[in-house]
Amino acid sequence: MLRKIVFFTDSQAREEVTVFDTTLRDGEQTPGIAFKFEQKLEIARQLSDIGVYTIEAGFPASSKAEKETVSAVKKLGLEAKICGLARMTKADVDACLDCDVDMVHVFIPTSDIQRINTINKTREEVLSISDEIIRYVRDHLNLCMFSAMDATRTDWNYLIKVFQMAANAGATIINVPDTVGVISPSGMKKLITRIHREVKCPIDVHCHNDFGLAVANTISAVEAGASQVQVTINGLGERAGNADLAQTVMIMESIYRIKTGIKKERLVETSRLVSRFSGITIPPTQPVVGDNAFSHESGIHSHGVIKCTETFEPGIMTPEMVGHRRRLTLGKHVGRHAVRQMLVEAHIIPTDPQLDTIVEKVKAIASKGKRLTDADLYEIAEGTMGIELNHKILALEDIAIMTGNHVIPTASVKAKINGNERIYSAVGNGPVDAALNAILGVIPSRIQLKEFNIEAISGGSDAMCHVIIAVEDEHGKIFDASGTGDDIVLASVEALVNAINLINRK
Ligand code: MN
Repeated sequence: MLRKIVFFTDSQAREEVTVFDTTLRDGEQTPGIAFKFEQKLEIARQLSDIGVYTIEAGFPASSKAEKETVSAVKKLGLEAKICGLARMTKADVDACLDCDVDMVHVFIPTSDIQRINTINKTREEVLSISDEIIRYVRDHLNLCMFSAMDATRTDWNYLIKVFQMAANAGATIINVPDTVGVISPSGMKKLITRIHREVKCPIDVHCHNDFGLAVANTISAVEAGASQVQVTINGLGERAGNADLAQTVMIMESIYRIKTGIKKERLVETSRLVSRFSGITIPPTQPVVGDNAFSHESGIHSHGVIKCTETFEPGIMTPEMVGHRRRLTLGKHVGRHAVRQMLVEAHIIPTDPQLDTIVEKVKAIASKGKRLTDADLYEIAEGTMGIELNHKILALEDIAIMTGNHVIPTASVKAKINGNERIYSAVGNGPVDAALNAILGVIPSRIQLKEFNIEAISGGSDAMCHVIIAVEDEHGKIFDASGTGDDIVLASVEALVNAINLINRK
């Protein structure tokens, strides 16, 4: 292990910064997202389990359903504190109190543009209304967060007065929202430095990503003394979203050596859970959690990483740290070292000339733009080396799938597992899900589906489709394989069976 590198030392930053997650409030305001009730509870449980300090569960005054959700989240009895959002009115605060929240987050617009166009109150009125409502919250609760909405576009001299009023009225933490994502990191540092100096209250920040600066601005605020950050899973939120939890946490933990209390090894799992529920897929290049975050294709990089992972990875952040995996991928840039490594892991030992031929074939296929799976590589190796290595665990004999508008999609399979016949049935969200569940159920070992990727090769409803599936075995090893055909269910089944039959190869 090389020396620990610390890139930043000279700052006001605390040793510990708490995480306030607003996936269930601002995140849910992402266009096109509506989490189901049960999904919200599951997200709340996950957030608390991974060490989020406060969960903003919703905006109780906005609807009856929202109020029920916030109450239900609170009733889970989680470790995390539960916060409800309220406009600056007693009725909104009461709606939060009805949910038995631990903290009320009150907000009011302070910039001239929002103040005049939304609430039409004078600057003085904003001060007096806020003073009254913060005191009202504190009469009932120990914790009150105050937000000056559109803080960054507010006259800063006035903003300081607003925050001083909030602190005097009893706000336990003040939030500085960059509501429309317009400040720069250096501007944020200046603003937070000033607030930190002139207002006696812990500072929290809420940054939007309109210019892609949400995470950078959040970190700038931390450098200047903010003690809490508002984030969402996968950066969900209005417009371009909020600061992403995984990135913000890993920057603080790995680069700044600030403790966040987050169980970092569960970041990838959490990101995938929310991606599944939100229907918003994670781009492969997403920092920390994206599929490619620790993938290496080019020959030089793969060679380096095989020798020492820190050559072409940050080192201060490893895949193990965040619950990810390192992956050498087969592509047109692949080199001999990577191919040899992938084969050796599957107990396939080619001679040097055989390896050259295999690499050439891999590059030829990859340069046509086709993604090569593990199954493809083993097949090429077997063809080149004139061997048949694959011991197939699973031989599918029959599969029947039932779906329709009044039936729960159900699949039954008959298969031979190491020669022994087994039958299994399962239901699913749709026919593909049911079929894959039935196959995963028929095999005795615990194998998890890690990736499902489908693409239509030609257009039209009779299009050929190509399905790539990755599975993970009990030892955490990942195998991928593909299936092709004009029936989406059967192509998926073929891909899964092929992937399962690679297990025991690595
Ligand atoms: Mn927001």
